[in-house]
Amino acid sequence: SQMIVLASRPHGAPTSDNFRLETRELPALSDGELLVRNTVMSVDPYMRGRMNDVKSYVPPFQIDEPLDGGAVGEVVESRAEGFAEGDLVLHGLGWRDMAVVPAKAARKVSTNVGGAQVSPSAYLGALGMPGITAYGGLMRVGEFHSGDAVFVSGAAGAVGSLVGQIAKLEGASRVIGSAGSAQKIARLEELGFDAAFNYKDGDVRGLLKNAAPDGIDVYFDNVGGDHLEAAISSMNTHGRIAMCGAIAQYNSTEPPAAPRNLALVIGKRITIRGFIQSDFRDLVPEFQQKMATWLADGSVQWDETVVEGLENAPQAFMDLLNGANTGKMVVSI
Ligand code: NDP
Repeated sequence: SQMIVLASRPHGAPTSDNFRLETRELPALSDGELLVRNTVMSVDPYMRGRMNDVKSYVPPFQIDEPLDGGAVGEVVESRAEGFAEGDLVLHGLGWRDMAVVPAKAARKVSTNVGGAQVSPSAYLGALGMPGITAYGGLMRVGEFHSGDAVFVSGAAGAVGSLVGQIAKLEGASRVIGSAGSAQKIARLEELGFDAAFNYKDGDVRGLLKNAAPDGIDVYFDNVGGDHLEAAISSMNTHGRIAMCGAIAQYNSTEPPAAPRNLALVIGKRITIRGFIQSDFRDLVPEFQQKMATWLADGSVQWDETVVEGLENAPQAFMDLLNGANTGKMVVSI
């Protein structure tokens, strides 16, 4: 089997030297296990944190060991009840072409959802981890109510594009998104965002003030730093900030300078709360039902950037951190 191993830990932005393609023999299949041929795998920003040797909510990757992460594949051989050859499964052993997967860590998935066809990769995106992140982060942590004005950063990415569309469907008065290119801004307008700006065009605080003249009630933060500072500045009284990610600092070697205006949180009675998507297990059935309907009737549009070939997975991951993706970045194997 071919796999990508962590050759060394990145310092700052990862480089191709940090990764290595290797061929290794797979262990024999035991009872309760599946042999899976992966067809698509996910690259996600959180993987950057796992490349550092620090304890977090997920353990770090180990040097000279294969990376892992979300993947969908086809069962080639099953020694587990309830799974048969040809089944499509979602599991956590990506970054390799073949995997021996404990059946209890695999979930059968279907490309037919509520009568509509979805690609297997949808389970790495709209119907999967980024989807529940967007839904739970907005509805529960952001305490979204119909009529709220919502700002989301990283808005053209996997999570952000869903946050904006869900907010509109759930009755937001105004949805504002920020992203890093003119093409992404054009796409956000097509997706139904009321306003969108390219954060590279100038001072984020001014750009947000201009896009949200009446302020915002919820900020869904994917970026941190100057975006968070701008959101605090534009926040209405009793506003909520759902801290999902801080991608502006994942590659930095120095702590961030912003937000410098944190004390505004007091007078504005702002709630700032972080979360991890696994907090939302109880919301998953409700979320899956809604998202399946939205995808089937076209009210949510789902973009993907697909990179071909396991050997290109490290580059896809590096490109993701640099904003090369619109929608979800996935690697087809
Ligand atoms: P995306 O699809 O949004 O891809 C990452 C995007 O981040 C890039 O496309 C790029 O877009 C943007 N970006 C990179 N550097 C910067 C920067 N310096 N400033 C602003 N934007 C930047 O990834 P996901 O949707 O998978 O994840 C989005 C966020 O959500 C991440 O912070 C991630 O860590 C977090 N997350 C948190 C979870 C949780 O449980 N808390 C679960 C899943 C994701 P651009 O061109 O716009 O710069």
